[in-house]
Amino acid sequence: MAGERPTLVVADIAARPRIRVAGSPRPKVLVAGAGIGGLVAALSLARRGIPVEVHEQAQALREVGAGVQVSPNGVRVLAALGVAAKVAAVSSETRGKEMRLWNTGRAWSPFDVLADSVGTYGFPYFTAYRPDLLAVLEAAVREAAPGAIHLGRRAEGFEVLPEGRVRLRFADGSTAEGDALVGADGIHSAVRRGLWGEAAARFTGLMAWRGVIPMERLPARMNRPVGTNWIGPGRHVVHYPLRGGALMNFVGVVEGVDWQVESWTAQGTHAELHRDFAGWHDDVHAMIAAIDTPFRWAFLARDPLPVWGRGPVTLLGDACHPTLPFMAQGAVQAIEDGFILARALAQFEDVTQALRRYEDARRDRTARMVRASNDNTTRFHNPELAHEAGAAAYIAREFEEQKVRDRYDWLYTYDAEAVPI
Ligand SMILES: Cc1cc2nc3c(=O)[nH]c(=O)nc-3n(C[C@H](O)[C@H](O)[C@H](O)COP(=O)(O)OP(=O)(O)OC[C@H]3O[C@@H](n4cnc5c(N)ncnc54)[C@H](O)[C@@H]3O)c2cc1C
Repeated sequence: MAGERPTLVVADIAARPRIRVAGSPRPKVLVAGAGIGGLVAALSLARRGIPVEVHEQAQALREVGAGVQVSPNGVRVLAALGVAAKVAAVSSETRGKEMRLWNTGRAWSPFDVLADSVGTYGFPYFTAYRPDLLAVLEAAVREAAPGAIHLGRRAEGFEVLPEGRVRLRFADGSTAEGDALVGADGIHSAVRRGLWGEAAARFTGLMAWRGVIPMERLPARMNRPVGTNWIGPGRHVVHYPLRGGALMNFVGVVEGVDWQVESWTAQGTHAELHRDFAGWHDDVHAMIAAIDTPFRWAFLARDPLPVWGRGPVTLLGDACHPTLPFMAQGAVQAIEDGFILARALAQFEDVTQALRRYEDARRDRTARMVRASNDNTTRFHNPELAHEAGAAAYIAREFEEQKVRDRYDWLYTYDAEAVPI
């Protein structure tokens, strides 16, 4: 009947989350791991007045010496947290992408969503040296929540206590207690192991060579605010500037290898790296020669976790959605996770309900990102790329405007401040 109000049944009320009322006690949150995801979570919680402790295994906060791309959806979060200007000051801003053919160096600038990231998505696209990004986040957490970061604390396991609180155990025998635990402890997460056991991983036969190069060692023409993607059969190279052009980040992906170590510290030799790119353009070899230490990382693929947390425990970042890096979104999604987690804990009074709302808000998006990264594995290694004619046709087809928009718009337009939780 028109104008009649629907009857609110008891089940509706029980299912409704309790919205936090102003002044109600805030939960204390333990975060295991002070990588990019853990620090963004800690800063987001602190900004909302939620007590937080971050427990990091390392004795000092040190990111690996490598580059990381931070797309506009991630920069939006950094801006909301008040650190985007500081990150901008230590980063390079990407003004476009270019593709080049492995042997002749012929360049294409196909349709490019990054040509005007601010105009298109409202925020810039940064490429940052990881230690610089981490230093900005660490300083912000120390300022917003003095004493929150605890170093030399390797999490080994946790117990949920009878009253619903959680106790985190460390390798040195010490413990910490809180109302919620967030495993932000990366790809080999101890918290995930405590929840769900070991995650099955498939070796992809792919590995990445990486290195960071002082820009003055390279020809001046290579110092451009552009992400360059060299494409060829069975391998590709990505390079982009860091620190406003003081450094160049190099990543060379090779397929058909049996190296299986996922580590930021495994080293190789210049001779091996030159050999892996035999026949490639001189610019590629100029970069290889200028790297101080070539590192290598094996790519293992994992299916996205169907369920992230239980009770007062949850996960974020690589701990629950480790990904191949072919969408450059692993760290960015960890940034979004940390921000949404804090929004949920600020919004809902019941901790377990807040954590489930956070997971529901994040699970499908991050799983889609993992699958899209898997799909991208072969995009740059297509056999058609061996010759210029095949490469031109392939690029025109694969980088046609609508296809590029379909691949990236859903990622870059995400508004972590406004999405419903
Ligand atoms: C070659 C390569 C290139 C990439 N490029 C990009 C890119 O351009 N853009 C992008 O967004 N992503 C990129 N990624 C992905 C990105 O590196 C990860 O997704 C991101 O680092 C995940 O952040 P995290 O905070 O979840 O985990 P991590 O960065 O792994 O941090 C985990 C932290 O937890 C600590 N820890 C681990 N175990 C414990 C424990 N038991 N107790 C306490 N502390 C612990 C670690 O010391 C570390 O500080 C790339 C990855 C690779 C391999």
